[in-house]
Amino acid sequence: MTSLEILLKPEHEELRKWAKDFAAREVAPLAEDIDRNDYYPRELVRKMGEYGLLGINAPTEYGGLGLDLLSSVVVGEELAKVSLSAGLLIGVQNGLVGYPLAHFGTPEQKEKFLPRLVKGEIIGCYGLTEPGAGSDAANIQTKAEKVGDSYKINGSKIWISQGFYADVAVIFTRTGTVEDKAAGMSAFIVEKGTKGFDVGGKLEVMGVRGTGTAELVFSDCVVPSTNMLGSPGDGFLIAMAVLNQGRVGAAAGAIGVAEAALEASVSYSKKRALFNRPLSKLEAIRFLIAEMATRVEAAKLLTYHAAYVSDKGEDFIKEASMAKLFATETAVWASERAIQIHGGIGLSKQLPVERYLRDAKVLDIIEGTSEVQKWIISRELIRD
Ligand SMILES: Cc1cc2nc3c(=O)[nH]c(=O)nc-3n(C[C@H](O)[C@H](O)[C@H](O)COP(=O)(O)OP(=O)(O)OC[C@H]3O[C@@H](n4cnc5c(N)ncnc54)[C@H](O)[C@@H]3O)c2cc1C
Repeated sequence: MTSLEILLKPEHEELRKWAKDFAAREVAPLAEDIDRNDYYPRELVRKMGEYGLLGINAPTEYGGLGLDLLSSVVVGEELAKVSLSAGLLIGVQNGLVGYPLAHFGTPEQKEKFLPRLVKGEIIGCYGLTEPGAGSDAANIQTKAEKVGDSYKINGSKIWISQGFYADVAVIFTRTGTVEDKAAGMSAFIVEKGTKGFDVGGKLEVMGVRGTGTAELVFSDCVVPSTNMLGSPGDGFLIAMAVLNQGRVGAAAGAIGVAEAALEASVSYSKKRALFNRPLSKLEAIRFLIAEMATRVEAAKLLTYHAAYVSDKGEDFIKEASMAKLFATETAVWASERAIQIHGGIGLSKQLPVERYLRDAKVLDIIEGTSEVQKWIISRELIRD
């Protein structure tokens, strides 16, 4: 039995087959359009909802599948192999929005939003990053000021996945003073159509195209106190809890991209003839493929292990950051090497290989950059 088989149960492998089949049938025909035309596949999101993919971890009483984190890793990996954008849409809906609602929402909030999010009837987004606060998330400036039994929100969020299409946003604001830093942050649910909540233009990005990245703008946007997620001052804790499991999701997406790059390289090296023999007969190419496969396997072990630790109910902060750091950098490295193995055609739009690199690069920035992951890992080890 391999280490991977110890971490993954037969039901995870069943789920993998199911996700792989869905990806081949429903996602593959759209992958190119999503990327080339920055096309947001609204119908696909609805189908993902019908299949339960948007609520893999959501509680069954709200229509979710109620499965563990390892299950969402396996599904994310298989979708990302075909289209990282499609994998990211599941990650946002299931992880970035469904997770905080399920874990920190009141029964009324869960009842109102979770079943429709899980079915793909409504689109959600997670707004933490601001023009002046990305890695330094505790420095957000969007303010929520208490006015009677409501809060008045002013500020903006940037680079928000699905923001352009979102019906509901989970956003993080400052309810305390700037000096309070993390302790002065609170989370709110804001619905589309609320006066003072606007979506700025769609932001074009080199990778994960078609995911509706946008700016959210709040100008005297008034929401009732009942829209607060958790208690006043819980915002940073909620934001980090979401990001922690989200990092395992990003690592899963990275594995998918790296595996796709590896498979394309093996296949192309056997087909391409150079100097009267296949490229795969050259030692330099064979060694490169061996190194790619080894790094992919290591990334898988780190990622499955992080999910496994989380599913046991243990602290998995260090494990999630290690998985995210290694898997996303592996995806960037492997997809860049895959282009090298393909030569000119690897740079062209005839094959998806160049997309793998553009997509992979986004992964080592979002949900905390590689530098931020190194900071977290060292903090967990040195504990100073
Ligand atoms: C396609 C896309 C989708 C996104 N989706 C979302 C979303 O849905 N919701 C959301 O809230 N945000 C989202 N983001 C934002 C993303 O999480 C941030 O871009 C990311 O956290 C980095 O923040 P920043 O861009 O402000 O970079 P900065 O924080 O300005 O970082 C700039 C550089 O400084 C480095 N750096 C920062 N701190 C340190 C340190 N202590 N030591 C060494 N180096 C450091 C960084 O690693 C980076 O290289 C998305 C971004 C993109 C591009």
